Amino acid sequence: MTFSALHQPSARAAAAPRTRRSILTGAFALAAGAALPLAAAGRAYSAAAPDIIGCTAWGARAASEPVVVLANGPERIIVHHTATANVTDYSKQRAFALARAIQTYHMDAQGWIDTGQHFTVSRGAFVLEGRHSSLAELRTGARQVRAAHCVGQNTVSIGIENEGTYTSQVPPAAQYAALADLCAHICDQYGLPASEIYGHRDFNATSCPGDRLYALLPTLRKDVAARLGTPVADPAEAADPIGDLVRQATGRPASTYAEYLPAGLLP
Ligand SMILES: [Zn+2]
Repeated sequence: MTFSALHQPSARAAAAPRTRRSILTGAFALAAGAALPLAAAGRAYSAAAPDIIGCTAWGARAASEPVVVLANGPERIIVHHTATANVTDYSKQRAFALARAIQTYHMDAQGWIDTGQHFTVSRGAFVLEGRHSSLAELRTGARQVRAAHCVGQNTVSIGIENEGTYTSQVPPAAQYAALADLCAHICDQYGLPASEIYGHRDFNATSCPGDRLYALLPTLRKDVAARLGTPVADPAEAADPIGDLVRQATGRPASTYAEYLPAGLLP
């Protein structure tokens, strides 16, 4: 059972509210709620946690060495695109194949210990765990795993890869909504404001996450703020000194970061 399913009682459950099943479900919901310190602090956000598919479910390989769990949580979220094809296969199978291909590329070609990013959002709006333990640490609301998705930011940010190439197209609506839900959940868990959502190009010399998705980030911050029930404050729009310095120093470069899957790795 998914966490989100706990918040969608069936008509049958409503008709017979004190079944053993509903009592057990309620107990689990209470236990899950107790693990969310920010929820207990009375924040406005009360949406169900998104259904995030863990590494085991999509068939991840073991990491080549233990994933490092950091004592700190993230300071921000960084949005990427995978620069893979804008497929119209929106299936879970495709999402799983993508996750495995990314892991294979990151481990075998890049030499990393595991998938680089913490989470992946497929074109079909499936949300998957990337690097092992990212999901378990997200649920703590206090720690994160060290990642490999953005140079200089891998110990202080959560990286989200979005399947597709968003240089001239925007993501499908369902994928965008899944991204917003995921960002809101991450912000809620770690106590981050929605203004702390950035694009990869704000920190590294890369075109990632594509001009169109990058242009959507102010909207994404507002949509995440709305999900959190917080005021729409967006200091990141007004002041982005790191991004400005990078762009001044580098112009608008082609990516020199080999974060993208080579052609042919993903059928
Ligand atoms: Zn990127």
